[in-house]
Amino acid sequence: MTSGPSAVRVAVLFPELLGTYGDSGNAAALAYRIRARGLPVEPVRIRAGDRIPTGCDVYLIGGSEDGPQPFAAARLAGGELAQAVDRGAAVLAVCSGLQLLGRHFPGPDGRPLAGLDLLPLVTRAPAAGLPRTVGDVRVRPGPELPIGDVIGFENHRGQSTLDPGASPLGSVLQGYGNDRTLAPADRVDGAVQGRVLGSYLHGPVLALNPALADLVLGWVIGPLAPLEDPEHERQVARARLRRAGLRTSRRHRQPRQYGQQAG
Ligand code: GLN
Repeated sequence: MTSGPSAVRVAVLFPELLGTYGDSGNAAALAYRIRARGLPVEPVRIRAGDRIPTGCDVYLIGGSEDGPQPFAAARLAGGELAQAVDRGAAVLAVCSGLQLLGRHFPGPDGRPLAGLDLLPLVTRAPAAGLPRTVGDVRVRPGPELPIGDVIGFENHRGQSTLDPGASPLGSVLQGYGNDRTLAPADRVDGAVQGRVLGSYLHGPVLALNPALADLVLGWVIGPLAPLEDPEHERQVARARLRRAGLRTSRRHRQPRQYGQQAG
């Protein structure tokens, strides 16, 4: 009996804690793109009370309000995610996820709590009077990540600083990204270290940015043939236009101001 290719295991970590912003849609986007290449997918939902498996191929960590973040950090303190990364797994961590993977992040009372130290950054509470960072974002990755502009939206209180020499996902063309206190020309979003990628972009970001999804997939399953699904690509292109195209006009260069939403 011949056995087919083994399933790509796509894990969503703690969807009940880190699921405020629909980031588990990143799992659906990856599953779609894996199946479209003729490979089987095994979705793995890891709830906060579950044992954390170290054998998955991709781990997805989403955004949340401030309250659940310390619980997620405590559950991840056992080192399973670091073991998975050491074995070659990829991680996409969005907003709370990015903050959790840094060295420290602000707890609900603003005091720093230990992160996992899988990304070279720290996150601090904003200075008094700094508004919440909310709006649409366009990020331009550098030449080492030839995936085109990445779009999404951000909604965060914490402000993150990369270590000197660390690699961001890209430069921010619109919106704020990691740290709104920097001059516009110095603003960057996210961090990339090996196969661990953090970003402030919700969306879900992999549904809006197929090239980013394929970058992450390529890390774990090797070079990928382009996906030829004209109807799906048209839908993605329409969604990208709706989200970003309207705001590339001069009138929309500044991020839209939204209400001060919880998160
Ligand atoms: N609660 C964190 C903050 O506001 C993360 C928010 C999010 O995940 N969108 O900084």
